[in-house]
Amino acid sequence: MFIDSHCHLNFPELAENLEEILANMRQNEVSHALCVGVNLENFAQILDLAEQHGQIFASVGVHPDHELDAEPTREQLVQMAQHPKVIAIGETGLDYFRLSGDLEWQRERFRTHIRAARTCRKPLIVHTREAATDTLLIMGEEGAEQVGGVMHCFTESMEIAQAAMAMNFYISFSGIVTFKNAHTLKEVARQIPLDRILIETDAPYLAPVPYRGKLNQPAYVKHVAEELARLRGIPLQEIAHSTTENFHRLFKTG
Ligand SMILES: [Zn+2]
Ligand SMILES: [Zn+2]
Repeated sequence: MFIDSHCHLNFPELAENLEEILANMRQNEVSHALCVGVNLENFAQILDLAEQHGQIFASVGVHPDHELDAEPTREQLVQMAQHPKVIAIGETGLDYFRLSGDLEWQRERFRTHIRAARTCRKPLIVHTREAATDTLLIMGEEGAEQVGGVMHCFTESMEIAQAAMAMNFYISFSGIVTFKNAHTLKEVARQIPLDRILIETDAPYLAPVPYRGKLNQPAYVKHVAEELARLRGIPLQEIAHSTTENFHRLFKTG
């Protein structure tokens, strides 16, 4: 069985076909999916999905790209994370690719999430894009290693992966690792210890080959696992087993 450690099932393009998407998960041996929060406004939708479906977990956070969304306080995040199906804080982090200018608010928001995670003792889901140095710096300053978490949709170097793993973080690969031109990332995917790897779709975005450019869904996480198995020269079952065990260990869902 496989687990999609990061998707956005509440986004309308997926939510409107939820039954079909859940059926596809079953057919492709995807046992669970973590539906990741990107704002406070839609948190109730995510909680609803998680309450109605045993195979869906939830997280709470405000995405670093969402400049105009309501700013969360540490107390709010902690309070919203009390629900037993909420297994992580995020997604949070830094994104210097999508936004520019004075991004001090983004760094402050990231700090707030790490403090909340430490208070409620839940792991973090970290998004980083063209901001790896600052991301690691803030993780270090705020004591993110006390709760650990996952570097989601990882596209950075082995050095960045190592620094994150030293702070108790896991490395999650998305459909990007299946893209033909992702040479550097494929090399990183060969080297990360098996007990630190997670897999994800980030659906509805980033569909893996052979669905590249189409609407993504959790069932396709199997293609990410297949690519990892191919790159490492090990059986698919071994990737399935390790990534599932890693997910349950990190998020205490086992
Ligand atoms: Zn992200
Ligand atoms: Zn995401």
